[in-house]
Amino acid sequence: MNGTGTNSTANTANTANTAKAQYSVIVVGAGPAGLLLAGDLAAAGVSVTLLERRPHKTSNLSRAFVLHARTLEQLDARGLADGLESAGRPLDRIRLFTHLTVELDTLPSRFNHLLVIPQYEVEEVLRRRAVEAGVDFRYETEMAGLKQDADGVTLQVRGPGGEAQELRAAYVVGTDGMRSAVRDEIGLPFPGRSVIRSVVLADVRLAEEPESLLTVNTVGDAFAFLAPFGDGYYRVIAWNRARNVSDTEPLDLEEVKEVTRLALGTDFGMNDARWMSRFHSDERQAPAYRVGRVFLAGDAAHVHTPAGGQGMNTGLQDAANLSWKLAAVVRGHADTALLDTYQAERHPVGRSVLRSSGGLVRLAMAKRPWTLAARRVLTMFLNTVTPARRKVAAQITGIGYGYAAPRGAHRLAGTRVPDVALRGGRLYEALRGGRFVLITPEAYEDGGARKDRLAGERWASDRRTTVLVRPDGYVAWAADSADAATIEGALTAHVG
Ligand SMILES: Cc1cc2nc3c(=O)[nH]c(=O)nc-3n(C[C@H](O)[C@H](O)[C@H](O)COP(=O)(O)OP(=O)(O)OC[C@H]3O[C@@H](n4cnc5c(N)ncnc54)[C@H](O)[C@@H]3O)c2cc1C
Repeated sequence: MNGTGTNSTANTANTANTAKAQYSVIVVGAGPAGLLLAGDLAAAGVSVTLLERRPHKTSNLSRAFVLHARTLEQLDARGLADGLESAGRPLDRIRLFTHLTVELDTLPSRFNHLLVIPQYEVEEVLRRRAVEAGVDFRYETEMAGLKQDADGVTLQVRGPGGEAQELRAAYVVGTDGMRSAVRDEIGLPFPGRSVIRSVVLADVRLAEEPESLLTVNTVGDAFAFLAPFGDGYYRVIAWNRARNVSDTEPLDLEEVKEVTRLALGTDFGMNDARWMSRFHSDERQAPAYRVGRVFLAGDAAHVHTPAGGQGMNTGLQDAANLSWKLAAVVRGHADTALLDTYQAERHPVGRSVLRSSGGLVRLAMAKRPWTLAARRVLTMFLNTVTPARRKVAAQITGIGYGYAAPRGAHRLAGTRVPDVALRGGRLYEALRGGRFVLITPEAYEDGGARKDRLAGERWASDRRTTVLVRPDGYVAWAADSADAATIEGALTAHVG
């Protein structure tokens, strides 16, 4: 176990174990996943503290720079997408390999594109929302130890001056990144391996503007990728497979230029690097996303290669899946069994993202005859078969994922609901407020007892299906025709 480990701390922890929880939920780590989750919980009226070991300052250094369609839909359901859309740059296609481009403009989503936007801008929007919702932020506060018992979780934390303190919560979520101390504390391994080593990254200005918005190419051992942030800077990611050095090896701009020239034929006159980093990329996934009262989300639960730009997006989807469940349980509207569905639903998605992003990297960097042949066949297949290309687009953008439904459930159960038109507006507006949305063909009166967690809507069209949409935009329950008693039964089962 990390942390203070002194006898006196251990004794206080024992006393605290019997104490009542000070907080309903403590979230550890104010990256994108933690910010979204804490904001959702606070918006649902749950008392939540967010611990972050860094000081509070807005950085202009960004790791991720892409928001995908499903994440934009989730942000739309929180009233945050339009602002981000006006700040970022939409792109209607993703180039995967030299001869393979996947179009996004046919995606069945209001967001039929990807949005190039730096991670720090996304974090800032989520942070502001979390502050407004009432999240108790604790910066310069590091989680240093954790013990759980039947009634709650006791955290040892080190505050701004290094002072030790204990906090107690009913539930804890570790959104503390790939080196998650929370994951270590609950005894979970992080199996997997390093896939690519010594990748270099630089945020630079360019003397010459590239022809396309995203530029990517591979030549021999060299790979380079360029994307604009929109503030005059470009993100360069470059990799020379022949140069395999440790992450701590010093990096200068000349090295980034050299690999870029090898892969793209020019370095576009890059200059004025505001950030450079050498990193390696791992593929790892925790075997469980929950142990008792402690959950993992985001990079703490899974990491994969940056190919396809799915890391931050997958973490935000984890947070959106967990937040309403945790809020429902904490507020006493759902049985704790609902929390098991977080692992059941999100672990398979994490595994699938690991596979697809790893597959993309391996194919992009194919060198051996059989991998080159596989890439040629796949490229030819996807270029010819439009439905297959659309499936790839749906997977990368997250809109292709749904969740398993119980045996005998309606065919729509577990599927993602698009932004359908309703008499009162559109679905993703109705989802604002973190409530379930019941969509019926005729007016249905619920009596108002569930008003804080259920919104009633009618189809704008003459559709006859009755659909109960979860707060995260997936179908909880549906029926082709339903009387009032059937609807009441479904509401009791799902909304509580
Ligand atoms: C070069 C690169 C490019 C990438 N590009 C993309 C992309 O285009 N699209 C995409 O979706 N993803 C991308 N990613 C991945 C993305 O950056 C991560 O998936 C994302 O930041 C994970 O978010 P998170 O909230 O899970 O964790 P993090 O962002 O890692 O946040 C974890 C937070 O926890 C804090 N913390 C850690 N330990 C403790 C502790 N003990 N106590 C308190 N606080 C703690 C940390 O200070 C940190 O603020 C990229 C990554 C890299 C490296």
